[in-house]
Amino acid sequence: MNDAKLAPTPGNVFSFSRVKCLNQCPLRYRYRYLQGIKEAFRSIESYLGNAVHDVLEWLYSERHRGREPEESAMLDRFAAGWTENLDDRVAIVRVDDSEESYLKTGREMLIRFFQETFARDQSETVALEQRLSIRLSDAVVFTGFADRVGRTEKGRLFVIDYKTSKNEGDGSEFSEGLQAPLYAACVLGDHGEEEALAGYHYLRHGTTRWQQVDRERAAQLLERFLDLANEAAAAGEFPARPGILCAWCGFNAQCPAAEVPDRFSGGLRRAERNGRRLL
Ligand code: SF4
Repeated sequence: MNDAKLAPTPGNVFSFSRVKCLNQCPLRYRYRYLQGIKEAFRSIESYLGNAVHDVLEWLYSERHRGREPEESAMLDRFAAGWTENLDDRVAIVRVDDSEESYLKTGREMLIRFFQETFARDQSETVALEQRLSIRLSDAVVFTGFADRVGRTEKGRLFVIDYKTSKNEGDGSEFSEGLQAPLYAACVLGDHGEEEALAGYHYLRHGTTRWQQVDRERAAQLLERFLDLANEAAAAGEFPARPGILCAWCGFNAQCPAAEVPDRFSGGLRRAERNGRRLL
């Protein structure tokens, strides 16, 4: 391993993904955030999520510029981006699945979004893919990217996070409880508002769930995140926590504790072919 090429995340910068990673598997957290090792593959589910997010960003940026994109142009853009960015780091973890099935799912999600949500959406876009950052203590900075910040027709500030996952989330901290509400806490401070809405839109289901974040809740959310970040910063042991997510973990070819069933071994095979780690 060439340690000189490794790039650990700055010790004081904490994102929601970072604390979630520690919660899911401390060893993966150590590899990724403390040692700065890059995962040897990315799952096609993650690739699909990025490809769809790129198109959603394009849709709203076009409208923000006064243009009304057509559904066919959206699908052309999705197909072109899919082909252009697909490389040998993308792995189909479920060995019985095919690239075409994910491409089809992406098209279906976008068509549904376009027809049921985008075409009727009267909200104003304030920012797309906005980087948010707030210092929580001398030792902790919270950072994240909000998919879209906007204002409803009635002028209410909102943050929305687009999800391409198969299942809708629940209210727990590492599902819907923290991420978008934390982003809302940041933007209401940035915009000097008393409250903001935090939303999750599930593209496979065509559903949106909203939470209200006022100043009091914002303070609670940021305080809770600071606790989680302080726990992460103080962690001294990083045990492996093997489970179903090992199949999607880009360290599974180097991790001595990895548990990867044959039917979900597409990522492991790709990592072995790619030499375990791509820098
Ligand atoms: S392969 Fe499993 S146990 Fe090993 S680091 Fe990844 S998630 Fe953790």
